[in-house]
Amino acid sequence: MAVSFRIRVDMIACDGRGLCADLLPERIRLDDWGYPMIDPTSVSGVVLDHARRAVAACPVLALKLEAVRGS
Ligand code: SF4
Repeated sequence: MAVSFRIRVDMIACDGRGLCADLLPERIRLDDWGYPMIDPTSVSGVVLDHARRAVAACPVLALKLEAVRGS
């Protein structure tokens, strides 16, 4: 069974600085107030590497990688 990953954001914790959109432009854009809008498409390969970097860099730990089990 294959495992892929999706990006999730805790909007309560997020303070909208927008660092994640700089580190993961493949999946994250910012709204007019600087809060992230997440593309729910799964990430893999080099995009997964970028996602891990963005998760590690979030200053309030609001960004998470969620494992998605597929067939
Ligand atoms: S880096 Fe973290 S706190 Fe900043 S906008 Fe992204 S999710 Fe929110």
